[in-house]
This record gives sequence, structure tokens and C-alpha cells, in this order.
Amino acid sequence: MKILIVEDEIRMAQALCEILKLEKYEVDHCDNGFDGLRAINSGIYDAVILDVMLPLKNGYDVIREARHNGIKTPVLMLTAKSELDDKVKGLDYGADDYLTKPFMTKELLARIRALLRRNANVSDETIAFGDVVLDKNTAMLSCKQTGREIRLSEKEYRLMEYLILNGGQILSREQLALKIWGYDSEAEYNNVEVYMSFARKKLTFVGAKTEIKAVRGLGYELRHGDSNV
Ligand code: CA
Repeated sequence: MKILIVEDEIRMAQALCEILKLEKYEVDHCDNGFDGLRAINSGIYDAVILDVMLPLKNGYDVIREARHNGIKTPVLMLTAKSELDDKVKGLDYGADDYLTKPFMTKELLARIRALLRRNANVSDETIAFGDVVLDKNTAMLSCKQTGREIRLSEKEYRLMEYLILNGGQILSREQLALKIWGYDSEAEYNNVEVYMSFARKKLTFVGAKTEIKAVRGLGYELRHGDSNV
């Protein structure tokens, strides 16, 4: 699970990064609204923690523009203000939840887990789409109908997790490469196709009807097996 923090107060940002990394989330950080919006628009994050008062572009504008761009990533807004108006404004612009500073670590983590669950069919142990289930602890991919299962390699796991969390949506090769290999990986770009074929073989192996469809010129999509009948 990849989480983006958009926060300009360095100490707060560092604390958030540390807390989330301890919980085994992958974390990226932007310290202004302009970079934050660009990162959110990449579509590679599973959740975003967004401060309101930010340089270059405030949090309200960031969330409003991201939603306008069709980005559905769950967003938790952090606000130093406790006035009701500000909370309502954030939610009106498309935030999923808000937390008022200062907050307890436990509360933050609970809100993040709730956001991630809202995003997909996610429990603490598994995520699922169609007839496939991915175990987050063991990296086992299984099919609900056949009961067959197979273990995924680290990168296969990341790919399958991303596909499942965005099931039914088209993901571009750029998004997939960024998500799985990160930002400094030009050389890995063509590997997306290779890993797609690995992932398809594993879906076939477990007997899943859920399948990875290539959408010409756009990217890939995880689909229910019966959606193309
Ligand atoms: Ca701030």
C-alpha cells in the first residue's frame, strides 16, 4: 500500500512518514500543493494525507482539482483549524475524511485503514476483486471458486495488489511502471508487459474467471470474467 503525504511542516511530515513506515506502508512526501497535486494525479497512491495550509496551492484547491481530473484516491485532510466550515469545505471538495491537528497516532492509523478499506474489498488480511483473493501476509493469490492458490513474487504481488485495488479501472503502463518500480526506473518500463504475462499465468493457474484485459493504447484492466460475455 502506497500513501502520499502532502505536508509543508517538516517535523510533522517526518513524524507521519515514520509512523506509516512502521506500519509497513510505502510512503512518498511532497512539501507543497503544486507537487502534491501532480503526484496525486499520477493515480499510483492508495491513499493521500493532505494538509490544508500549503505553499503554492492550498489543500482545498488540490483536492478539488484532483477530483476534477477524475482521481478517486481516498483523501484524508489534515486541518489545524477546528471550525466546522473548514471541515465541510474539505468534504464538499471531495475529501473522504478529515482529522484536526493535533491528533493521536492511533486515530490517524484507524482513519487510514478505514480509507483503504473504503477503496476496495479490503480487510486486514486480504484484498479481493471478482473471484480472486490476495493474502497480504503470505502473498498467496487464490480463487474463491476453485480454492486453488499460488504464491506471488514481490513484484507480482505489488502488481496484483494494484490491479485488485483498482479493479474495473484502466491503468496505464506508466502508472503500473511507477507503482511497481518507482520513479527512477526508465529501464524497467518494458517489464510491465513481462509481469502482466506472469500475472495472467497465475490467474489461469488458480482457475480464476477474473482476467487482465489489455486495452489498446490505454493500458490494462482487471475485469470480472463475465463482463465480456
Ligand atoms: Ca501546513
